[in-house]
Amino acid sequence: MIDSDLLDVASEYGNPVYVYDSEKIASQYQRLINAFSSVGDLRINYATKALSNISILKLMKQLGSGLDTVSIQEVQLGLAAGFEPQAIIYTPNGVSLKEIEAVAKMGVQINIDNLSLLEQFGTRHPKNPVCIRINPHVMAGGNSNISVGHIDSKFGISIHQIPHLLRIVENTAMNINGIHMHTGSDILDIDVFLHAAEILFDTAKHFKNLEFLDFGSGFKVPYHENDIETNIEELGEKLSKRFIAFCQEYGSELQLIFEPGKYLVSQAGHFVTQVNVVKQTTSTVFAQVDSGFNHLIRPMLYGSHHHIENLSDPNGKERFYSVVGYICETDTFGSNRKIAEITEGDLLVFRNSGAYCFSMASNYNSRYRPAEVLWHKGKAHLIRKRETFEDILHNQVEIAFSKASEQ
Ligand SMILES: *Cc1c(COP(=O)(O)O)cnc(C)c1O
Repeated sequence: MIDSDLLDVASEYGNPVYVYDSEKIASQYQRLINAFSSVGDLRINYATKALSNISILKLMKQLGSGLDTVSIQEVQLGLAAGFEPQAIIYTPNGVSLKEIEAVAKMGVQINIDNLSLLEQFGTRHPKNPVCIRINPHVMAGGNSNISVGHIDSKFGISIHQIPHLLRIVENTAMNINGIHMHTGSDILDIDVFLHAAEILFDTAKHFKNLEFLDFGSGFKVPYHENDIETNIEELGEKLSKRFIAFCQEYGSELQLIFEPGKYLVSQAGHFVTQVNVVKQTTSTVFAQVDSGFNHLIRPMLYGSHHHIENLSDPNGKERFYSVVGYICETDTFGSNRKIAEITEGDLLVFRNSGAYCFSMASNYNSRYRPAEVLWHKGKAHLIRKRETFEDILHNQVEIAFSKASEQ
């Protein structure tokens, strides 16, 4: 899709609006498949939480993807989108035994990341296959708020606890069919990732009935010009070779799983907003758009960079702007960005808005969450309506207070 398509979508569906390009999602999926083509049994499980619209899930299914889910509701969404339970893996953190049992009962592969629930689940359901999430304590690099490999991380079972883990598995005689890791969000260095993979292989040797190894995600995509990205082709070549050798050593052909979120949908997303006000202070020129961290929280939550362009007037003289929102809270999208001269009413586009953008949106300031549109085969398809005032009141319960004089 091209930028004039975004203008067309905004004029038809209004703004702010999230627009996703299905072709970009498909090409990222294919690039991943190609990079690991030498592996006999490869599976991509899209990480639902990145962008969980049911039409996106259906697109993933059509591409041949499975799903990675982190809550029973995401599992239900996946089933509603038509996925077989066997095509879904459930990787929660800190949920109740009850929820894990309910998901296991649906026939979904469960992945347990703490010793307490592993022991409880194994004792009660020793025959039910379980995957174990380990924490190899390898820092994938990048943003420490989204990296989950450090020693104090709440994710995964520490590799230093393997002896304890093995005792639990032996005592309960439970069935471990997969080993999983998800070290963080930004793989900047392939060798670091390969090092973590070796730790996973070492762990895997302790278990005799494995069916798969799941290397999670962390594929980095470029967020701005000249930004580094994970070299998928190099990772594919090196890890595939090592994986195939490990399977020979292990004595059976295991399935290789990845669960990318960002990699599949980040760059496919474009968030279109309109400038309400251009405000000059003594030191800064603000462009204030009809949105805020209620719609796109990543810059404020963990300092993410989203490239911003003037869609309406891309060829004007470039000037410096701080792009901020309209909610009553500091909601800076980008400070002192060079953008083609902005006039009030111009539409701005935020790039890389596919992953963790709409899925983290809220109604803060009692604003409506934006519409979502999928651009597919040269046409716009509305996949989520813009909210209305009824949505704001939905589930609120009004109490009829008597007048003070009647008390
Ligand atoms: C969030 C998550 C992913 C996806 O991470 P990305 O950085 O978006 O690719 C994969 N696996 C698990 C377990 C996750 O929690």
